[in-house]
Amino acid sequence: MSKALIIGAGGVASVTVHKCVQNYKVFDEICIASRTKSKCDALKEKLDGKGCKISTAQVDADNVDELIALINDFQPDIVINLALPYQDLTIMDACLATKTHYLDTANYEPEDTAKFEYKWQWDYKKRFEEAGITAILGSGFDPGVTGVFSAYAQKHYFDEINYIDILDCNGGDHGYPFATNFNPEINIREVSANGRYWENGEWVETKPMEIKRVYDFDQVGEKDMYLLYHEELESLAQNIKGIKRIRFFMTFGQSYLTHLKCLENVGMTSIEPIMYEGKEIIPLQFLKAVLPDPASLGPRTVGKTNIGCIFQGKKDGKDVTYYVYNVCDHQECYAEVGSQAISYTTGVPAMIGAMLVLNGQWQKPGVFNVEELNPDPFMEALNEWGLPWQEDFNPVLVD
Ligand code: NDP
Repeated sequence: MSKALIIGAGGVASVTVHKCVQNYKVFDEICIASRTKSKCDALKEKLDGKGCKISTAQVDADNVDELIALINDFQPDIVINLALPYQDLTIMDACLATKTHYLDTANYEPEDTAKFEYKWQWDYKKRFEEAGITAILGSGFDPGVTGVFSAYAQKHYFDEINYIDILDCNGGDHGYPFATNFNPEINIREVSANGRYWENGEWVETKPMEIKRVYDFDQVGEKDMYLLYHEELESLAQNIKGIKRIRFFMTFGQSYLTHLKCLENVGMTSIEPIMYEGKEIIPLQFLKAVLPDPASLGPRTVGKTNIGCIFQGKKDGKDVTYYVYNVCDHQECYAEVGSQAISYTTGVPAMIGAMLVLNGQWQKPGVFNVEELNPDPFMEALNEWGLPWQEDFNPVLVD
């Protein structure tokens, strides 16, 4: 019998809330707390009486004292952070002060620079160990399931993994010329940054979208995909034995890239503040305000996502190749929880990670990336809770 405090009430949080309600045997009480309380109330109204007990609260997650007061009042066993990466450290501070377990889906980001580094959160390791509480970092899909897939491959199929390619394909179509599938600010920061991959012990940097490949994805078909830096590369490069190269590719359609280039060229994707009519604004935040809300894409998005990892390495001296991936249908997700597959594929693993902390399987003092923990119960839970995975021992490789 456990209580979870869910912070944030956006696209991802909505899915996690639905899944906690379905999994009421583990989550018998949840509190949904966010900056805009009406969004929490709307979720409660939709789901009240369908599983666990639900309460709501208003909270500014940038404010540690407010968070501590809320945690002391609700007394959760875990805080599931589904606000934005900017709030990770304040929420971790509040968890430390109240000795409450912590889980998130994205690494901390300072608002003024796009860094994608774990160092700030890894710095909490000793303090979480001393407090006897668990922090799970990046329990979404990527990061998240991609790390669990890596740990699973390492545990069951390889003595050493030498190459990992993470392939993130969204074959969905929302019918808009340009929209982002999750928080536009975070999404555009990610794709407009330089690309980077790990090879032979060092980072190799590329221009944004410089490296392109074409891949034929199961149940989606052929798509253009581009090499990006993605935060799980940092932890996987450290945590997977024998790794020589690790890359991340994401698919983008031509319309998305053309719009993005144009927005970049006119300065709309910048995170440098500018003055507008006597007020300081950040162009990217203004752009977010005029783009479709990702949460509104659910009813209009058709098609599938296919996200997974291709591993190459050795077992008992022999070469082994292994591809493990999940295919998720946007409309099926919408029918089940009222969200498209990008939110779904993130929100379900957040619930699963929290469940494993609560039932003890992933509970140990410290700060962990998901690949550092036993992948087996997570892999089982993916099949049970809506993200079944498939294996291919003879996949087409990415050159
Ligand atoms: P949304 O923008 O839809 O939702 C963010 C929510 O956080 C909103 O409800 C927002 O409130 C709330 N929030 C923002 N700032 C504060 C604050 N200071 N205090 C309290 N609440 C706040 O984002 P998503 O749901 O799309 O994404 C959520 C997280 O998931 C992000 O960190 C994102 O990076 C991560 N993510 C991870 C993925 C993965 O696979 N690992 C994939 C996709 C997303 P308000 O409604 O007032 O704006």
